[in-house]
Amino acid sequence: MAATSLARCCSRIYYNCKCASSSQNHQTNENRNLVNKRRSSKPVRLILRNRSKKLNDPSLTRALRDFAESGLMEDALHLFDEMNKADVFVWNVMIKGFTTCGLYHEALGFYLRMVLFTGIKADSFTYPFVIKSAAGASSLLEGKTIHATVIKLGFDSDVYVSNSLISFYMKLGCEWDAEKVFDEMPERDIVSWNSMVSGFLAVGDGLRSLALFKEMIKCGFEPDRFSIMSVLGACSRVECLRVGKEIHCYAIRSGIEAGDDVMVLTSVLDMYSRFGEVSYAERVFNGMIIRNVVAWNVMVGCYARNGRVVDAFLCFQKMEKELQPDVITLINLLPACEILEGRTIHGYAARRGFLPHVVLESALIDMYGESGKVKSAKVVFDRMGEKNLVSWNSMIAAYVQNGENYSALELFRELWDKDSSLVPDSTTIASILPAYAESLSLREGRQLHGYIVKARYDVSNTIILNSLVHMYAMCGDLEDARKRFDQVVFKDVVSWNSIIMAYAVHGFGSVSVRLFSEMITSGVSPNKSTFASLLAACSISGMIDEGWQHFNSMKREYGIDPGIEHYVYMLDLIGRTGNLSSATRFIEEMPFVPTARIWGSLLKASRNHNDITVAEFAAEQVLKMEHDNTGCYVLLLNMYSEAGRWDDVNRIKLLMKSQGVSRTTNRSIVETKGRAHVFTNGDRSHVETNKIYQVLDIVLGMIEEEEEGKEEDSYVHCVSKMRPETLLKENSNSYRRHSVRLATCLGLISTETGRTVLVRNNTRICRRCHEFLEKTSKVTRREIIVGDSKIFHHFSNGCCSCGNYW
Ligand SMILES: [Zn+2]
Ligand SMILES: [Zn+2]
Repeated sequence: MAATSLARCCSRIYYNCKCASSSQNHQTNENRNLVNKRRSSKPVRLILRNRSKKLNDPSLTRALRDFAESGLMEDALHLFDEMNKADVFVWNVMIKGFTTCGLYHEALGFYLRMVLFTGIKADSFTYPFVIKSAAGASSLLEGKTIHATVIKLGFDSDVYVSNSLISFYMKLGCEWDAEKVFDEMPERDIVSWNSMVSGFLAVGDGLRSLALFKEMIKCGFEPDRFSIMSVLGACSRVECLRVGKEIHCYAIRSGIEAGDDVMVLTSVLDMYSRFGEVSYAERVFNGMIIRNVVAWNVMVGCYARNGRVVDAFLCFQKMEKELQPDVITLINLLPACEILEGRTIHGYAARRGFLPHVVLESALIDMYGESGKVKSAKVVFDRMGEKNLVSWNSMIAAYVQNGENYSALELFRELWDKDSSLVPDSTTIASILPAYAESLSLREGRQLHGYIVKARYDVSNTIILNSLVHMYAMCGDLEDARKRFDQVVFKDVVSWNSIIMAYAVHGFGSVSVRLFSEMITSGVSPNKSTFASLLAACSISGMIDEGWQHFNSMKREYGIDPGIEHYVYMLDLIGRTGNLSSATRFIEEMPFVPTARIWGSLLKASRNHNDITVAEFAAEQVLKMEHDNTGCYVLLLNMYSEAGRWDDVNRIKLLMKSQGVSRTTNRSIVETKGRAHVFTNGDRSHVETNKIYQVLDIVLGMIEEEEEGKEEDSYVHCVSKMRPETLLKENSNSYRRHSVRLATCLGLISTETGRTVLVRNNTRICRRCHEFLEKTSKVTRREIIVGDSKIFHHFSNGCCSCGNYW
């Protein structure tokens, strides 16, 4: 637009002066205009030669206005300087010109020059642009000063001036000042309403935005395309699909949503995309007569975000045939990418010169992180020229997702120490907290919590509190997890999911179920993760009826299709009953191809019920999919050794060797007096080793005394099946010295009597140690909590909260 009017302006001046014929063809005109544009001061010289020093010559003013409107401010300035006496109209043209070109400080300077040094009074045409410049320059002070002048001069009753004040305050995030201006307006037009609706949306208050839109209709204003575009954004913000659909219907009825209004249609498309209503989005997109790059990007993003990977790529290919994808297209496409497509996109971006681009690079880090390629993520991260907080957060999250907690913590510290311009935000804290939860260290988790408080993060922030609930629960401190949950003022679905899962992993399934009812009563709608936590609770606590009831209600009452994770928990639940044939049938009837996790669950069930045939079958299925699944080998190994099938034990050991699989080193941590003590199996490196082993022997003696006379004891029974030489070896070295026992014994002697002993284990506890811990809790009259790789076992008075199923 600017180029055309520029062309018009320049050509007119040029041809007027040279008296050139206007019969030249269009193409020549265009070329000439380009030349004129480059040597733009030539026409100015011509004008000045012909008409200089004529005060307020109307054609001079016209020429100045044309230059200003074309964005040729330097030329406009030339003419302005030549004028002996500029009137308010000319000043306004200059101020408007500077504002339109984004030269806000120049516009403000011109305004001040006019009112302070010329005695010319600004009028109602001056203020809208001066205020717009104050907004553009993000200068609250200047804006407020101008506002005061506006009131003094009585321009506040002018609707244009007030509208620009509303936009100014909204842009600077002062929504209450904007509202005050709005409330005091004697008359309002549609622009006033639109500024309020879009302003509240821009400051993140979707609810107020929607409310104002409704009020606007009540006051008799017909929404226009700008109102519709803003309010659709508000619907997405407050997650209100119903209102969004109503507004879409209104737009169709009123003719606002015409097939060629690409901006309105793109807002509709975006709204449906955000709600995951892919078919609605498709319908809108297919009905669009004109599609620009923004519309294509929204559609690609819609498919990608909603898991329609193939469609996302097909859409991308179609787009390429019509127009050039831009960097946003790739950013929108990346969430759909598996590693192979992700690498292709990475290559495409590099070839097309889209890199470096800080947002795209952060999206690449996310993609690599989610595909388990942490090294590639780190390469992208290291090569980034400019890193923002999002990039750091993405890299930390990539480490945490892939279990590289140590590196995540290192990077977090680096961010904190090195880059003083970047301060970790609540997203950083939320992504780093799971690393603390996984690092098995409650002490470090507490330290981070202390840091969060000290560094004055908003400790009432829901995201941070939710992560703290998770961290405390996973570090074994259920009580503190509950305290943080109770602190959350606005409990969202993540808060509820975290606390339901917290009680689930600690084996308090009935509390989880009760919390779920509370959540429903409080009006928060459950999602997939809620049901995963709930079914985990039922499965860990063996609540069969409740489990089935919630599993069935997922689809029926809440319209949520059960995913693989829900089937895994249900299978665990069925597995507990020992009915392995119904578990197998459950797998056959699943609407998915069973994954390794599903077969793993059957393997666990068959191990718990000592059915080697089913176990072998399940293990075979797991290993077909994940030939390096250590857990699977270890389970088989344990089953064969317990059954005394030594040839099979050796066969599995050889298989593990050939596959390059080694057993994870057992590691147990106990924290006493602010220090963490790490033990491996048979560890003798601790300073108090002798004392620990003495205590272990005493405890074993106490257990033996307790068990005396019980010939049918399963503990003895189990051992009796072993080959004599192995028995000897095992007795002296192996399971009796498992890390979890050593950590427990240190816990027993270094905590006050009556205090709970908390031990974290990085692997699943073996049967014998589980039994040892049950009995230890009885003979020592101490509560012992042991967290393994999946759940927490609360041992008390000879029983475990897991009901001997884990
Ligand atoms: Zn053990
Ligand atoms: Zn247990």
